Amino acid sequence: MNINKNIAYFQNLTHNTDCKLVAVSKTKSDSEILEAYSAGQRVFGENRVQEVEEKYHRLPKDIQWHMIGHLQRNKVKLIAPFIAMIHSVDSIKLAEEINKQAEKSKRIIPVLLQVHIAREQTKFGFSPEELLTLVNSGAFDGLTSISICGLMGMATFTDNKTQIREEFKRLKELFDSVKNTNPLGNHFKEISMGMTNDYEIAMEEGSTLIRVGSAIFGERN
Ligand SMILES: *Cc1c(COP(=O)(O)O)cnc(C)c1O
Repeated sequence: MNINKNIAYFQNLTHNTDCKLVAVSKTKSDSEILEAYSAGQRVFGENRVQEVEEKYHRLPKDIQWHMIGHLQRNKVKLIAPFIAMIHSVDSIKLAEEINKQAEKSKRIIPVLLQVHIAREQTKFGFSPEELLTLVNSGAFDGLTSISICGLMGMATFTDNKTQIREEFKRLKELFDSVKNTNPLGNHFKEISMGMTNDYEIAMEEGSTLIRVGSAIFGERN
């Protein structure tokens, strides 16, 4: 893989758009990450606590690390001091724990609420109905050390582009209905959707954060 060239491709693709690239570097080496860093990339996504923690300590401090994978509550304290954004908030209890650890670190941690939009059973996240009920009931209101910046979703892993597009449309509609009634405030502006397989559709449907790994760094083992 020519990481440098791939980063340039995505910089060009997102240039003059409202969409930003999260370069998903899970399982990738420091030297591969530094190659993307040299090309100007500063936002990287990881899905394991131990891995992101180790990389944070070894790599340049102006990297913004995004946690994109399922997060266990007992591990939040390990990343709370430095994590730039957590995309995978899928329960009130997890939101409460991030809030608690953010307070301890004297930080306000930006988070996204993960919504289950795929047909597959295995993906984490709130259902759209559940999310609306929780948000409108004020369930997140007391959590002043997290900033709820938007929603995250993963489409079904399929070649059916129509289905992927429908799933992204549902996430965008949900985002708009929360945005319009504004129960979470003005920080609510991000839609994290789109990966290597479907980032083009996601951008067409209003993504503001695409999370791309393999198309930049090559296949993972
Ligand atoms: C691994 C991962 C990605 C990136 O996947 P690619 O298909 O390699 O682009 C994006 N989002 C999440 C949540 C991931 O776990």
